[in-house]
Amino acid sequence: MPLYSAHAYDHSKPVGSYWETTVPMQDHVYPALEGDQEADFAVLGGGYTGLNAALRLAGEHGADVALLEGGDIGWGASGRNGGFCCVGGSKHSLGELAGKFGQSAAAGFLDYQRRSIDHVAELLNAHDIEAETHSDGELCLAHRMKDMRQLEDEAAYLRKTFGVETTLHSREELAEMGVAGPEFFGGARLEQGFALNPLKYALGLARAAQTAGARILANSPVTSITHEGGRWRLFTANGSLSARTLIMATNGYMQEEMPGKPVKALSGRLLPLLSSVLVTRPLTVAEQAAQGWTSPLMSYDSRRLLHYFRLMPDGRFLFGMRGGTDTTPECDALTRKEILADFHRMFPAWREVEVTHVWSGFVCMAASLNPFIGPLDDAPHAFAALAFHGNGVAMGSLSGANVADLAAGAITPGDLPAVVSGPLKRFPFPALRKVYLKAAYRWYTLCDEVI
Ligand SMILES: Cc1cc2nc3c(=O)[nH]c(=O)nc-3n(C[C@H](O)[C@H](O)[C@H](O)COP(=O)(O)OP(=O)(O)OC[C@H]3O[C@@H](n4cnc5c(N)ncnc54)[C@H](O)[C@@H]3O)c2cc1C
Repeated sequence: MPLYSAHAYDHSKPVGSYWETTVPMQDHVYPALEGDQEADFAVLGGGYTGLNAALRLAGEHGADVALLEGGDIGWGASGRNGGFCCVGGSKHSLGELAGKFGQSAAAGFLDYQRRSIDHVAELLNAHDIEAETHSDGELCLAHRMKDMRQLEDEAAYLRKTFGVETTLHSREELAEMGVAGPEFFGGARLEQGFALNPLKYALGLARAAQTAGARILANSPVTSITHEGGRWRLFTANGSLSARTLIMATNGYMQEEMPGKPVKALSGRLLPLLSSVLVTRPLTVAEQAAQGWTSPLMSYDSRRLLHYFRLMPDGRFLFGMRGGTDTTPECDALTRKEILADFHRMFPAWREVEVTHVWSGFVCMAASLNPFIGPLDDAPHAFAALAFHGNGVAMGSLSGANVADLAAGAITPGDLPAVVSGPLKRFPFPALRKVYLKAAYRWYTLCDEVI
């Protein structure tokens, strides 16, 4: 039985995001797959991972590559996210990773996260992508006084073990910085990362990949994948694409019911999770001052079911949160109520401010709680890069480039950080994934609000 309703995967359904209003229609126009085509490399998925893979294959390896996307480019998480280009990617803390993989592997993964951010900054620069960047680093805000103690302990551990510098700020200092709200009791600032317009970044990548020679094919949902005579063939309603090598860049949007060995190799191993975002109309300077929030720093709170938020360069406020266990019209209406309630509680001065856009999408979790980049079992010349745990702006980008290097034979899995090298474990009793999720959300809510 599918994990989520068909509504979630309907490529003809507009996302309804604010980002869609910021890009000219002509930037969206890519042809659909027609007839039977061939390439050396096929990439499935037109988000950051797939676009980075196509760009790397065409641009650096001079390869013949075609990318297939079911909706418009960036229709998945890449065109609808919060735009935090930041560290992250695993659900495990660095301390937990050090326990599992050893300290040097954890340090290697930290370095990979930093390089992911640099990778995006370099792409924006190299390909003249104007993506409305702002925010010098990011801020984690303690939602209770006792969570500030935890931020202090974590900062001390990171400094001592990994040499990571975080700056701690008291509630009063935050207020002076233009970061105030009834639920912010202090914070820790990491001077890495920046914010961007996610859809502009995705469309800029598509343009760069096409300029480098990649075929970018949109509005072409793949319905099955076969393997014959040493070649993968991806079928759509209007044709097929055959390629010797396949990269799965489908993250939280792969439908496990689709026939094909690469799908089978990923099935039962991933769990898409909903994240939702709202955006307000531009706030006046007086409205910003009334709340005490004037800072351009991108921020998130210390909850396990976290909220993330930022004041954008045009004065609009973006506010996002995790949660929700399905996306049907009824569930979407409920999610809308919940996100508005949390926004108004955390930013009470803006209760009357018009919210112009609310939307949701899938992030992707793996059973291992770590990202995966590598070859797929029982699927020759098929690779995947996915499961960025809600932090794929930076990590999906570098991982897309790396999976392309792997597929092209330019690197081996041993060249990648141990943390992302798998194996991709199955969830125990995968049919129960939604049951685990609901239980985990109850537990997280208890930890966040009560314990
Ligand atoms: C609301 C929200 C907020 C987020 N905020 C942040 C943030 O602030 N910072 C951050 O780092 N990360 C954030 N994320 C996560 C981040 O967006 C993702 O990790 C990242 O975009 C993953 O990129 P991707 O290319 O791997 O996957 P996606 O962008 O999801 O792309 C996968 C693509 O595969 C396509 N596809 C799947 N199956 C098929 C098929 N059969 N045929 C054709 N096409 C198919 C889908 O249509 C989809 O476009 C957020 C995600 C969401 C949903």
